[in-house]
Amino acid sequence: MTKITVAKGDGIGPEIMDATLKIIMAAGADISIDEIEVGEKVYLAGNLAGIAKESWDIIRRNKVFLKAPITTPQGGGYKSLNVTTRKFLGLYSNVRPCNSLHPFVKTKHPQMDIVIIRENEEDLYAGIEHQQTDEVVQCLKLISRPGCEKIVRYAFEYAKQYGRKKVTCFTKDNIMKQTDGLFHQVFDEIALEYPEIENEHWIIDIGAAKMADTPEIFDVIVMPNLYGDILSDIAAQITGSVGLAGSANIGEQCAMFEAIHGSAPRVANQNRANPSGLLQGAVMMLNHIGQGNIAEKVQNAWLKTIEDGIHTYDIYKEGTSKQKVTTTEFADAVINNLGQQPSILTAVSYDKNAALILPRYQRKEAKTKSLVGVDVFVNWRGSNPDELAELIKQLESEDAELTMITNRGIKVWPEGFEETFCTDHWRCRFKPLAEKTFNHANITAMLNEAIEKNIDTIKTENLYLFDGKPGFSLGQGQ
Ligand code: NAD
Repeated sequence: MTKITVAKGDGIGPEIMDATLKIIMAAGADISIDEIEVGEKVYLAGNLAGIAKESWDIIRRNKVFLKAPITTPQGGGYKSLNVTTRKFLGLYSNVRPCNSLHPFVKTKHPQMDIVIIRENEEDLYAGIEHQQTDEVVQCLKLISRPGCEKIVRYAFEYAKQYGRKKVTCFTKDNIMKQTDGLFHQVFDEIALEYPEIENEHWIIDIGAAKMADTPEIFDVIVMPNLYGDILSDIAAQITGSVGLAGSANIGEQCAMFEAIHGSAPRVANQNRANPSGLLQGAVMMLNHIGQGNIAEKVQNAWLKTIEDGIHTYDIYKEGTSKQKVTTTEFADAVINNLGQQPSILTAVSYDKNAALILPRYQRKEAKTKSLVGVDVFVNWRGSNPDELAELIKQLESEDAELTMITNRGIKVWPEGFEETFCTDHWRCRFKPLAEKTFNHANITAMLNEAIEKNIDTIKTENLYLFDGKPGFSLGQGQ
């Protein structure tokens, strides 16, 4: 017997959780339940995180968490419980299968059967943001090698376990050569370990367009956090309804399973909501805890129910659907179908499934890191880059010289275009003169000089070579 933590959430949460638990228990799930309270009530009682400390203890002890959607109150500094849970518990992998249920649920993509695997902890979601000048704010995009290795390996292992043929990677590494470039590079490295699985990389823009237009050409798709957030909602929506998709958030020790939709407050307490999304989350949970036979029984009964035309209001369609049912009636219909298989939709077989056990990340040998310059960012309200260059050249020394100024990444000095629009946020790149070495003391000297000369420095970024390879981008137009 596996003990799991359950939170019934807000809005339609309690209704769809009751329906989901009733179905999986009827199918013979060998679980016991610790229930915790999270969400709106907890937030409104003054807990900005939406969860009490004792509840964390229970989640961490049980390691498996089935969570209904919650309502995050607007304003007031309430933190998203989903984001906090993923990060605190190290749930690095978000898995979202999106398949169409044609001809029983209306979709433009009858052949669609994809799984989106989204990195869940890094990227712009680190939430490190700063206002630096009147005109410019920044958000740091952090991508790590362990983060990339873990998610890419997860995608290939998932493909292997579920008999999938191809893993596709989406990034924008033609622009973000360091961050997305690392993700792509790690994808290429790890793909070599799985010769039996096809692999390919697409630039995210055209990849996303293709996914929305011809999703049948994709199988498993792995991508960094922000792209995955957006594309997994699109993918779920174009299968027919966001109300039908579930997701798994997997970490090395804990896992959380949920529906992808929210708490739908407008349909709450009416016994109308579709419990399918949460049920799909529960099916993934059963696979994860090694009860693949129960997961399979539930999934096939659910497919049969959809195929029988027994539909909740959100997918009900005159002509295709046979019976419009309530949440509880839908659950009972699935229970009635336990032990049966769909005849038109493809039945699933999960006999070998269990939690994926991945090797732990091994830290690589440190590379040789050498400092070869610095970018000094300054706040300056002028408009002519040549004037700024004159000002900044005062920071030059016998060791280092100003080599470039960019504004929002585009080179404006030397030889900029007067058409280029400039803000009050400038990056001034210093490199050592020939035969000179460069060290941290040069940078602090430069910053001290800037104070003397009334130059408003915002921050610096060191320029390094790693094993002789540049760890920084060139200026656009350089
Ligand atoms: P939502 O997903 O709750 O609803 C979007 C639309 O889909 C609504 O028309 C709703 O009626 C419908 N819908 C959603 N699930 C359905 C279901 N199971 N059956 C039938 N219809 C369904 O999104 P929203 O309205 O933007 O957000 C409502 C609340 O949910 C907000 O407080 C938001 O913060 C929260 N939310 C929570 C989660 C989560 O806990 N994982 C995720 C997203 C949104």
